[in-house]
Order: sequence, then structure tokens, then C-alpha cells
Amino acid sequence: MSNEKSALEAMLAQYEKNNAPKYEKKSEKVYDLKNYFNTFIKDGINSATKEIRILPSQDGSPFVEVHGHKVQIEGEWKTFACLKHQKGEACPFCEAREELLATGKESDKELAKKYNARKMYVVKVIDRENEEWGVKFWRFNHDYRKEGIFDKIHGLLTALKTNKDITNVTSGRDLAISIQRNQNKIPVVTSIAAQDATPLSEDAEQAEKWLSDARTWEDVYSVRTYDYLEIIVKGGVPVWDKDEKKFVDKEALKADSNTSQEEITMGIDNVKANLQAATATEPTATETSVSTEDEEDDLPF
Ligand SMILES: [Zn+2]
Repeated sequence: MSNEKSALEAMLAQYEKNNAPKYEKKSEKVYDLKNYFNTFIKDGINSATKEIRILPSQDGSPFVEVHGHKVQIEGEWKTFACLKHQKGEACPFCEAREELLATGKESDKELAKKYNARKMYVVKVIDRENEEWGVKFWRFNHDYRKEGIFDKIHGLLTALKTNKDITNVTSGRDLAISIQRNQNKIPVVTSIAAQDATPLSEDAEQAEKWLSDARTWEDVYSVRTYDYLEIIVKGGVPVWDKDEKKFVDKEALKADSNTSQEEITMGIDNVKANLQAATATEPTATETSVSTEDEEDDLPF
């Protein structure tokens, strides 16, 4: 009997899998904000403390290194996984960067910086304020000034005398993250403190549930295709075209199909024009450079 039952289950699962709406599902993925931990604070609030527990990793460090490109789309900062660093494939951002560097001009070298892939970390945490939401993913930038979140955690680890393995399920430690707005009103992590040693959860079943969550960052921050990223590098906004079943530039979609077959080239002039247009709309050069460094964007694109 039990064999029969599992065969039926397997068949039903197979049916469901093979009949899932492939394109729609992937492209119109709804991002469940419960999956993401961040250090935003609400408007009007100047400081806050958030408590988290970092989950242990099956293989080595819980801090997974990821490379991404940051770019402003319709006024909001977004991060996209670098296809070159993550997949060993061609990446439109990296290609734009290389094209600019290849000209040998100082000004192009400066522009190329906008296309640098940046190192980030993703760590799985339990947000003590919202435990019922389960495992969350926290992504933050590597900071070459050594003032970033990883640096702060490293600092507290070296200061601890006991229970240094803060991710230990029975004897690890929660972390208290202090957040304050900086001079540009952007919330930044000012300090991270380790709490007393406690179990991940008093409820063994609950702990087991969190620990068995097998998702990785790729399950919640989708890795976009070359075509998708190319639209962005050219200054466009990717939107899903239901008829074509692919991403197209929002402008091209608006323009209607019979006139939108314009050829878009990837040339340096194109890239520069986009950069200059973007720079022109930003408040001031100095403010921008600060906010790019500190900003904690992060819709999970
Ligand atoms: Zn790249």
C-alpha cells in the first residue's frame, strides 16, 4: 500500500512540476519582503536597535560572498548579481567597464568606476522581532575602509573571551545592531554588540525548522540574465512583455511593437550618455558618492 501511495505522490508532484507556468512564474516572481532583513528605519525615526541571530552554515563561513552591480533605476538603488563573478559568464556591466577602461582616458577611467562589481555578503539570520517569519537573508556591502558590518562583527568576535562561535545552536549569541541616521539622513549601522550566550531557540522543533531551511541567496535574490542587465546598462527599465515572453525596455514597450524595433548598440558613447544623464539628475557629486557607499538599498531584484 505504501509503495502505491508514494508512487501516486511522486506522479502528482511530477505533474505539478511539469505544468507549472514556467515563464510567468519566474519573471513575475513576487518578492516576499519577509525573506529579507535590513537596517532601514522608518521616516521620522533617527535610531533603532535590531536583534538578530546568525544561523550556522553547513560549509564554512555563514557570510557568503557575492559580487553585484549597484545602479539607480527610476530613482531607486538596485543591486544585480554580477554574471561574470557569480557565473563566469558575460556581464553587461563588466563589459561596459572594460570598454571604458580600454580607451585609456582619465575621464573614462572615472566613469568606469560606476560599473565596478562590488563585493557583498549575504548571511542567513533570524530576526528576533519577527521570528514567525522564519529565516531571513541579510545582504550588506564589503567596506574597503574596514568600517562595514563584517568589520564590526569581526571586531566583536575578537573581543569575546567565551562563546566566540556566535552561530552555535546551543551556546551562540544574538547580536544587537545599532542603527542611526548619518549626516545625510541615511540609516547606517553604528555598532554591533554580542548578547549573552543563549540557544538559537528554546523550542528544539523551531530551531530544527530554521536550521533545515535549505535556501541560498540565489533563491531570494534572483540572478538576472544578460539580456535583462543589458537593458539597464543602456539606461532602460526592464519590464516583462507578456506577448514576447521576455524582458524589454519599458520605453520600447510603450512605443508599440511596430515602431520599437530600433537597434540599440552597446557603444561607449551610449554608456557615457546614460551616465551623464544619470549624474545630471543627482543632487551633488559629493552627496552622491557618500550615499552610494552607505546606502542599503534593497529591493531583492
Ligand atoms: Zn559584472
